Amino acid sequence: MAVIGVGHLGQHHARILANLPDVNLVGVVDANPDQARAVATKLGTTPYECFEPLLDKVEAVSIVTPTIHHHSVASAFLRAGVPVLVEKPVCRTVAEADDLIALAKKAKVPLQVGHIERFNPAFEELVKRPIRAKFVEAERHGPFTGRSVDIGAVLDLMIHDLDMLLALVGGKVARVSAVGAVVFGGHEDMVNARLEFENGCIAHVTASRITRHPKRRLRIWAPEGYAGIDFVTRKLTLVQQSEEVRKYGLRVSEMDQATRARLKDEVFGRYLQVLNLDADRKHDQLTAELRHFIDCVRTGKTPRVTGTDGRDALELAERVLDALRVHPWEGTPAGPHGPGGLPTPAGFLFPPIQLARIEAA
Ligand code: NAD
Repeated sequence: MAVIGVGHLGQHHARILANLPDVNLVGVVDANPDQARAVATKLGTTPYECFEPLLDKVEAVSIVTPTIHHHSVASAFLRAGVPVLVEKPVCRTVAEADDLIALAKKAKVPLQVGHIERFNPAFEELVKRPIRAKFVEAERHGPFTGRSVDIGAVLDLMIHDLDMLLALVGGKVARVSAVGAVVFGGHEDMVNARLEFENGCIAHVTASRITRHPKRRLRIWAPEGYAGIDFVTRKLTLVQQSEEVRKYGLRVSEMDQATRARLKDEVFGRYLQVLNLDADRKHDQLTAELRHFIDCVRTGKTPRVTGTDGRDALELAERVLDALRVHPWEGTPAGPHGPGGLPTPAGFLFPPIQLARIEAA
């Protein structure tokens, strides 16, 4: 195998593959030759500045370049009949993604997309259960890293939740509305979207890449109960009505005084039953994702996250981006609108702190 693009994330793909006993990491490629050399030296493999010499030397490839290069690199390998794992978002446009899907189909090789949260053990625990999500809140907040600036918060962060929503809820999204803002210039840094699925599910999805305290959570209400996932701590909380409440409801009016008095303390436990699952903390998601890809290459199994899944998440992300662009901040399309068109600030919230004082502190 080879890894193409060994920056922040790609070097971890390469490290894991170099340590898998049944994989031979033939080389690592990076447009920055110093980076390719540094990673190759550490892992005892060969550095390359471009991927072309590897096209006929590998049986599978992992592509971790910036998104703008996913299509050109992945299409070259698929044309050469090489199975591809490509990081998310699968490509820059749906048309590019469709092209990769067609190439993979023609070559009859797996195309997997790096939606890594599908390998989060808490999410794996959730999807084993019969839950038909009807209202979902997803939050994905992180600090500004200066990476992935070729895309905005929708394609960088929110796409993880859009992919999981499509996997969980199924069916088509009928309507999308969204609001989002560019804070640092370039692409949107924070976004909130409301998705209305044709099957009646409503999802509120928020992503921010300028938040001080990271948070990655999903909360689901369903006829079967409630599920809450904390992707950072890998905790899954499940709540369901007791059998009695499911059958008869909570008949407060028929309760005696003493039972009513205990109600507040007994709601969670007796009437609403709670299961807290601490998913395996040692489980490394990236290793699981890479192993799964290798297994699909070897056995011909369909990947858990296919090219079509990556494409569908991208298509929904594009609908969110379209909705962002038309959002009128002052209620009229003629006024300021879209993530880059914020109204002029009315003033400072507090007297600006001078740079010299920040540096001294
Ligand atoms: P990065 O900028 O740190 O690394 C990208 C590397 O690719 C750089 O070293 C760069 O020199 C190299 N590169 C650029 N063009 C190249 C080309 N044509 N051929 C070979 N190398 C090339 O970026 P990153 O944060 O590692 O992100 C890379 C990809 O991974 C992006 O698509 C990003 O969206 C994705 N990503 C996914 C997750 C996840 O949770 N699954 C997390 C972070 C990043």
